[in-house]
Amino acid sequence: MRYVGLLGYPLRHSLSAVFQQAALDALGLDLRYQPWEVPPEEVPAAVAALRGPDRLGMNVTIPYKETVIPLLDGLSRSAARIGAVNTIVRQGDALVGYNTDAPGFLRALRDDAGFAPAGRRALLLGAGGAARAVAFALLEAGAWSLVVTNRSPERASRLAAELAAVDRDEATGPGGRTGVQVALWTPTALAQVLQGVDLVVNCTPIGMRHSDGEGQSPLEGVLLPSHVLYCDLVYNPEQTPFLWQAAAAGAATLGGLPMLIYQGAEAFRMWTGMAAPVEVMFAAARKALQG
Ligand code: NAP
Repeated sequence: MRYVGLLGYPLRHSLSAVFQQAALDALGLDLRYQPWEVPPEEVPAAVAALRGPDRLGMNVTIPYKETVIPLLDGLSRSAARIGAVNTIVRQGDALVGYNTDAPGFLRALRDDAGFAPAGRRALLLGAGGAARAVAFALLEAGAWSLVVTNRSPERASRLAAELAAVDRDEATGPGGRTGVQVALWTPTALAQVLQGVDLVVNCTPIGMRHSDGEGQSPLEGVLLPSHVLYCDLVYNPEQTPFLWQAAAAGAATLGGLPMLIYQGAEAFRMWTGMAAPVEVMFAAARKALQG
């Protein structure tokens, strides 16, 4: 028996454990996906254990996506840029860190919403780890402009400055420029920004079950234009108050479950060398969400 798993603390009921194990079983692989709920002082030992012959790697979640970086032998370019690792793969004797949230998000946009970011304008709500992955993914995919807004404005400004530096270095957008701006986290400011964007991504936990923001939308009370695609990274519940609000405005929506499944599918492929059965993963995750 060999093992993969999820490193985090605390680990409540993990949807990743459910859908990854279902996928491993569906392909008849002799692999167990384990929850590795480890306090901070034990993280170095948990990562070192991946060097054993019975380990293929692991996923990493809050609060360790940055903590694990100095414990690894190498990083993918995108994990280095985002500054966060959500997947570790043992490659021979080396532990290499990846960020599969970014490609997972882009695949969800493409496959589940038919949205191509090249030349488009996006508003990101939030400036934490998920917002960083989404922002760098959109830049790499050639988005024309990004507006970042956050409850704590200084965090939005820091992220926008980093994004603008990447843009200056690489001139990502069509025509050579991707503008990066910061907007105030107020209904009036956001209502105005909404008129000029094609995509809004909620990268905050507002709307998540069992959280302070349960039952709420991050754009409560704001009139939502119908030409925009509204995307929520929250996946529990699958249909969030934000998505209900957008659908009621006649707009297209995308929930967080496809991104969760596709980031997991990419990790699965890297560990096993096999394409992940995503339909099996979706079915297992939806069953767990409903149960
Ligand atoms: P994080 O690093 O802790 O960042 C949280 C962000 O949300 C910060 O910008 C924070 O603002 C903001 N925020 C938190 N509570 C808020 C509130 N009550 N009102 C306004 N803003 C609030 O977390 P994260 O890793 O980015 O995750 C954010 C969400 O994305 C979570 O719900 C997570 O489950 C989800 N996610 C989904 C996927 C997926 O695959 N679908 C992947 C990654 C994350 P401040 O800076 O002001 O604190």
